[in-house]
Amino acid sequence: MAPSDARDTTVKRERIKESVRNALWARTAGRCTICNRRLLGDQRTYLHSVLLAELAHNIGATDGAGSPRSGANDGVDDTEAEENLLLLCHDCHKIIDNPDHIDFFPPEKLREIKESFERRIEMVTDNGGLTRTAALRVGCMIRGSLAMASRREIGETLLAVNYLGLVETQRSGDFTCRINGSANGRGFWDAAQQSIDDTLTQVRQAVDSGDVEHISVFAIAPVPLLVYLGWHLDDKTPTRLFQKHRDQFTGWSWSDQSDLVDFEIVTSENDASAEGLVLVCALTSEVSRAAFPPDVAGLPVIEVRPVGSPPGPVLISHEQSLVNFAERWREALAMAEARFPSARRWHLIASAPVTASIEAGRAIVRDIHPPVTIYERTNVAYEAVITVNA
Ligand SMILES: [Zn+2]
Repeated sequence: MAPSDARDTTVKRERIKESVRNALWARTAGRCTICNRRLLGDQRTYLHSVLLAELAHNIGATDGAGSPRSGANDGVDDTEAEENLLLLCHDCHKIIDNPDHIDFFPPEKLREIKESFERRIEMVTDNGGLTRTAALRVGCMIRGSLAMASRREIGETLLAVNYLGLVETQRSGDFTCRINGSANGRGFWDAAQQSIDDTLTQVRQAVDSGDVEHISVFAIAPVPLLVYLGWHLDDKTPTRLFQKHRDQFTGWSWSDQSDLVDFEIVTSENDASAEGLVLVCALTSEVSRAAFPPDVAGLPVIEVRPVGSPPGPVLISHEQSLVNFAERWREALAMAEARFPSARRWHLIASAPVTASIEAGRAIVRDIHPPVTIYERTNVAYEAVITVNA
């Protein structure tokens, strides 16, 4: 072997050893596999803590008499492989390699210790970790003041479900959409859609750059804007929705104690040739047909409503109820497509809590479903204010 080949081999071997050490460090969470001692020293050099980890062979690396557990080479092809190595502190390494103790630590015993320790670490880290999430806040003016989840409310709500949010400001942790003006004001709906567009552009950039992998939405806004927001959220990024509950005690957190609600689809007579269709979502209150705008009167109706109880303001307090609604709503849209193929426009009239309104929008499939006009309840009637999929 030429000297340079020998050097290459040594370098290669060192690299492999280092990657094995790193892998074991991850598997043991940096603790001694036998005594659970932290392998990060208390003393620090000026750059980093001193590592106390040693790589110990189970089956000896050589067959020589000085190598413990060398004759017992049962089925171990590569003594340098991760499976045959233990990450130990210096003391434990000395103990298991001491000829006087060999009988207490035969290969199968060490294998068992290693496996159960690494399994325990995996369980702890699987359950105990906090999921990083980016908070997306939407707020609007209500009676002259801004209604929006505070940073503290968001922090507490997220921590209660083991999410770590608002860790960074701006780009990756906190996206804020402030909707100005009042719902009756001139240009309100256009400006509000623009604000949502701008905020979601920032979110999308953060997702594309890899800074954001999970989104938590905290919104307060009129129903049509929530539907619009939902329509705009992308499906690829895991997203969890929160809403402010009427119950002061739970605040923005979902309640496990609340009643589970299921939903049903109620349809009017089939008229496959109808050119339009009304989708009704009656969760917070009944949606009165008498208040329908004149241009949708007489169109077929597909309505999603709670089973067994009337609509009400605290209907959706359990997160599973929201999941139930979203499922039923998607079924309703599939039914709309199948039964009313000639409908060139859907009209969406919703009386629904924040999260259900967002889910209603998420179910509308871009470029596949027809244009959907969304209505806002005014004092006297429903008024068309926003169209998606146009
Ligand atoms: Zn130890």
